[in-house]
Amino acid sequence: MTSLQPHPTDQDLIALLRARGQRVTSQRLVILRELRRRRRHATAEEILEAVRPDLPGTSLPTVYATLDLLGELGLVRKLDVGVGVSLYDGRTEPHQHMVCRACGRVEDLDAELRARPLLRAATDAGFVPERAELVVHGLCAECAGTAPGPRAA
Ligand SMILES: [Zn+2]
Ligand SMILES: [Zn+2]
Repeated sequence: MTSLQPHPTDQDLIALLRARGQRVTSQRLVILRELRRRRRHATAEEILEAVRPDLPGTSLPTVYATLDLLGELGLVRKLDVGVGVSLYDGRTEPHQHMVCRACGRVEDLDAELRARPLLRAATDAGFVPERAELVVHGLCAECAGTAPGPRAA
């Protein structure tokens, strides 16, 4: 099992890459830093835009390859929450997601997922389960008009 660090550091990445005999490149470090810096989930295109000033000449395929590598190392989580594009989450500790069908916002949901019955049912069906995720679909507080705080008169 890969142990996931809530806030992976440059040193974590360097140690993991060296352990696999892979090179420590500025692209890998800068992209991981960008994921950590963000408080929200990002597409590969958004990450490319953000790192372009630091990494001129970086292409989208390179960003995807780097994100895949960081995912294999357990430093980023790839999300497919049904918004038509993969999102990358720098927050790797277990949490679920809420997706707004009006604005497409993806928010973290910190609640324990009681997945044991699901995994048992999967096992009973002959499946070999590895993980379960929950995506809550609906309207975010802003789109639903239930957001706390002052509202325009
Ligand atoms: Zn919304
Ligand atoms: Zn998240």
